[in-house]
Formats: sequence, structure tokens, C-alpha cells
Amino acid sequence: MGIQKPAWLEALYTQKFFAGCSYHEAAKKNEKNVCCLDCCISICPHCIPSHRFHRLLQVRRYVYHDVVRLEDLEKLIDCSNVQAYTINSAKVVFIKKRPQNRQFKGAGNYCTSCDRGLQEPFIHCSLGCKVDSVLKHCKDLSPYLRRCSTLTLGPDFFVPQDMADDETTNETPHSTIVDSDEPMMSWSSSSSGSEKHEHGLH
Ligand SMILES: [Zn+2]
Ligand SMILES: [Zn+2]
Ligand SMILES: [Zn+2]
Repeated sequence: MGIQKPAWLEALYTQKFFAGCSYHEAAKKNEKNVCCLDCCISICPHCIPSHRFHRLLQVRRYVYHDVVRLEDLEKLIDCSNVQAYTINSAKVVFIKKRPQNRQFKGAGNYCTSCDRGLQEPFIHCSLGCKVDSVLKHCKDLSPYLRRCSTLTLGPDFFVPQDMADDETTNETPHSTIVDSDEPMMSWSSSSSGSEKHEHGLH
């Protein structure tokens, strides 16, 4: 009680990702896979233009759970001791703990807040478990939070062009307008080529 998580952190927990965007129901690729840290909502790629000056955190899906890139999350909060996984050469961490069937708990390395077994140096299975653990033991998250004024999506993030464009390319294939100019013809009849030929004759 009285311990405040920053609003963006709360949003990352409570917002639903990978559901269709209600503003862009008709659009393709309207899964909400970005968290706007300033508005504290999940948004879809089509929403991005209206949030482009906000801090945006891409959320990915890994084994049916939401993950974020470690590199991005490190700009917002200290992620040390949280187990990271590598997907497509990027390190990611789970946002929430993944429920695991309670098994016989032998000797081993377990998450501080749940029953998940972890690789050796790590003590938290997810961002959520780390935050729980910090709040439980230190009662204060602020030493772990980082000041982050800008956060942008990676260059590989798919941002659709405006929707009108998208529809025209799908409905009218421009396959018949290809042979309008013939660059190969002007190449072969270049003046330098014919000059060389004349010199050769002499
Ligand atoms: Zn926003
Ligand atoms: Zn949207
Ligand atoms: Zn855990």
C-alpha cells in the first residue's frame, strides 16, 4: 500500500497486447503490439502516427507470453538479475511471470517471487517478479527506475503507410504498365560506344 508503480509500468502489466485495435478494426495488421508509455495504453501500428512523439515500447510475443526487448526495458528500469532469453538475436525478458505447475522443489535456482526454475545467475523470471520482489524487500522502486525521455521503436518495426495507400496496392495490381520506357535501347546506342568502334576500324 502506498507504493506507487510508475504509470507506464502499470500499463505494461494491465494493458492487453496482441488483441485487435478497436480504432482500426478493418485494417490489416491491427494487433496492438506497442505500449505508449506516455498515454499508458496499448496501440496498434496504425495508431503510431498519432503517438509518434511519445515514448513507444514494442511488445513481442514469445511462447504465448508478452516480452519486451531487454535493451529497451533497460532504458526504463534496472533489469539486472532478470532472466533474459534470446529470440532472433535480440535479448528479451518476460513482462509477467508464466504460471508453472507446482512441482517437487528440489535443490536448484528459483525465482524470488514464483516457483519457476531459473538459470544460475538469475533470480527473477520476469520483470513482474523483480518488481514484486523489490517492492516486498525494499518498499521502494525508485532506485531502479531510470529517467527516460525518449524511446523509439526499432528500425525493423513494421509501420504501415496510411491505409488508403494500403488498399489501392491490394486492389489494383499495376502489372501492365511496365514496358513504358526502354532504358536498354538508349544504352546500346550511346555515342561513346560508336566512337570506339570507328577508331578500331582505322
Ligand atoms: Zn501516446
Ligand atoms: Zn490502432
Ligand atoms: Zn517469477
